[in-house]
Amino acid sequence: MTSCSVCGKPVERGVRCSTCGATLHRECAKKILGKFYCRKCYREGRKEARYERMRQWGVPGRT
Ligand SMILES: [Zn+2]
Ligand SMILES: [Zn+2]
Repeated sequence: MTSCSVCGKPVERGVRCSTCGATLHRECAKKILGKFYCRKCYREGRKEARYERMRQWGVPGRT
């Protein structure tokens, strides 16, 4: 059985980290913009989500 990469307990029906593919419990995973991330990838995911938003809004200060 796969174990959760956050808490280390076995996972029966979990989710996958969308960056590294680690198996996680639904309650252990962090969700950003509909994607699940492990603790390790959460920071990266948050950064990317911010970049994504910036791309949508356009870069401030350059009109
Ligand atoms: Zn867990
Ligand atoms: Zn990950």
